[in-house]
Amino acid sequence: MRIAFLGLGAIGRPMAVHLARLHELTVWNRTAERARAFAAEHRAKLAATPHAAASGAEVVITCLPTSHDVERLLDGEDGLEAGLGKGALFIDCTSGDAATSRRIAARLARKGISFVDAPVSGGTNGAEAGILTVMVGGDRAEYERALPVLQAFGKRIVHMGPLGAGDAMKAVNNTLLGVNILALGEGLTALVKAGVNPRLAVETLNASSGRSFVSEALIPERVLTGAWPVTFRLALLDKDVGICLGLLEELGLTAPLLERAGALLHDARTALGEQADYLAPIRLQEQRAGVEIRG
Ligand code: NDP
Repeated sequence: MRIAFLGLGAIGRPMAVHLARLHELTVWNRTAERARAFAAEHRAKLAATPHAAASGAEVVITCLPTSHDVERLLDGEDGLEAGLGKGALFIDCTSGDAATSRRIAARLARKGISFVDAPVSGGTNGAEAGILTVMVGGDRAEYERALPVLQAFGKRIVHMGPLGAGDAMKAVNNTLLGVNILALGEGLTALVKAGVNPRLAVETLNASSGRSFVSEALIPERVLTGAWPVTFRLALLDKDVGICLGLLEELGLTAPLLERAGALLHDARTALGEQADYLAPIRLQEQRAGVEIRG
């Protein structure tokens, strides 16, 4: 299948590697050097503009920071919309927002182009292993069209509901991830300060009822080891929580816990900057408590 992929960032790049093995792939990236390096290393053609990437593609996949970035990429002579042909399928793997996804879908529908929102979960490791969870919003028929393409990098590919349902699912998921990160940071710093060995604390937690993905995978791999890799920017997690809080507001719901977590993550982003990793708020918690969760 002729596929165009735009956005070779931390998660997009390993997703595109799987597509290059199975399909006729064309890549475009804002920083052209990244796309050039990708095309030199993998079986993929290089496109000079989004327009050129979309020309002749049966499927176009985007994976950018926000839905607004995707929307802007449609615009102008060099933009995606000008290159897309009638009947093409647009799969947006950005962790986006439902309102913008619906606006993009309506705009493309006027040209006979289908759209699904299809955010992913599983991190860069999951992308490399080709085992991401994909949360798809859109018509059932379009989900079925997207399925064989998404299977290149996805393991659980779920039709969540109409347009925007994938975005909603992803935003709530990541907000719960954020809550877990902050909660683990607070709980573990307290235990270490109380004199409990950090590794023993994590191991015992993971054999008890307070465990979570954060305690089972992220803390042992990144915090106890002191490795602190940067794989998912805190700025993007903050963006996801913002989308979730926007959804809650739209629904007329209050969610004090999620709102508090959102405020704390946003403060951490302000303190740590745009390139910090999503687990870095734990370092702030460590500093405040005067301890290190290592061992
Ligand atoms: P990165 O910041 O690593 O990469 C972003 C990509 O988008 C880069 O290719 C960047 O180009 C491009 N880009 C940024 N702004 C624009 C723009 N205005 N116009 C065109 N291209 C742009 O992000 P990730 O790859 O980590 O994340 C991408 C999406 O996937 C986000 O929505 C994120 O929330 C989501 N996600 C990320 C996960 C992760 O583990 N990293 C996990 C699950 C979802 P350039 O090279 O020029 O900077």
